[in-house]
Amino acid sequence: MSTSTASVDPGVPVLMLTPPPSHTLPAPQQHSRLAGSRARSAIRNAFTIDVEEWFQVSAFEHRIAREHWGGIDSRLEGVMRQIMSLLERRGVRATFFTLGWIAERHGALIREVAEQGHEIASHGFDHRRVTALSPQALREDVIRTRTLLEQVSGQAVTGYRAPSFSVSPDTLWIYDVLAETGHRYSSSIFPIAHDHYGIPDAPRFAHARASGIVEIPPTTVVLGGRNLPAAGGGYFRLLPYGLSRAAIRRMHARDGEPAVFYFHPWEIDADQPRMTGVPARTRFRHYVNLSRMLAKLDRLLVDFHWGRMDEVFADRIGGR
Ligand SMILES: [Zn+2]
Repeated sequence: MSTSTASVDPGVPVLMLTPPPSHTLPAPQQHSRLAGSRARSAIRNAFTIDVEEWFQVSAFEHRIAREHWGGIDSRLEGVMRQIMSLLERRGVRATFFTLGWIAERHGALIREVAEQGHEIASHGFDHRRVTALSPQALREDVIRTRTLLEQVSGQAVTGYRAPSFSVSPDTLWIYDVLAETGHRYSSSIFPIAHDHYGIPDAPRFAHARASGIVEIPPTTVVLGGRNLPAAGGGYFRLLPYGLSRAAIRRMHARDGEPAVFYFHPWEIDADQPRMTGVPARTRFRHYVNLSRMLAKLDRLLVDFHWGRMDEVFADRIGGR
């Protein structure tokens, strides 16, 4: 799957000139030394995971109706344990934006994540896009989710990430709803042009919204006057690791801001069932380089400093 071309995804045309090498990832022991060859940036960044099953992504929404989710085999526990042990090995505490639907079914797992020192935050109940909800429906969704997450984790939940970064210029009322329902920060606007989400001219860094909620966008770099995603997800899997590292270093040097990185548990699950009946482009985005993801994440954890959202941005959202 490394023969990508610039026609696959219009969101990353500039960085896609070099296909990923197929067998050049160094072993874990080696890259610790490689990282030492260049001083690690002192900036602490936010490492985030959107906790959902392999069949709950928006790209598959039309293939598997929500009422059938309960009948599909869960693959979450195994991949979550791999993520937790990776973080433990590198001494990193992260933020897990978790669906209420997951909290209902995997309460013990989410409790364990919290007990390991990670932050539990909200990703909404069942991955409905904000653009499909009324303010009242979102209010019910985030109250239900926050209540569930606090019950299972034993933590106060103050963060929210909209499913699929689905905040548009028409749904900026979400910040009023989030403020009214006890949230303090959001990581829901991707300041890029993309076919499914994003507000290209939104601020690139943490900023307060009118209701007092601090919006903390995933990381972008500016190339040729355009914001490009440099924050994880499909782009991180698709591109050679060195480009992602260079993008974060460039952003650090130019902007001096923490990076906000995100991925999903299913992105390290190379054995997940393959969805049929979806466009080739969707399939490519979902399945590219799954088997290399864990090694790439490990390099990222070694090459930069990481922490939880509520700690990294404590000075802006009021601290813990
Ligand atoms: Zn999601």
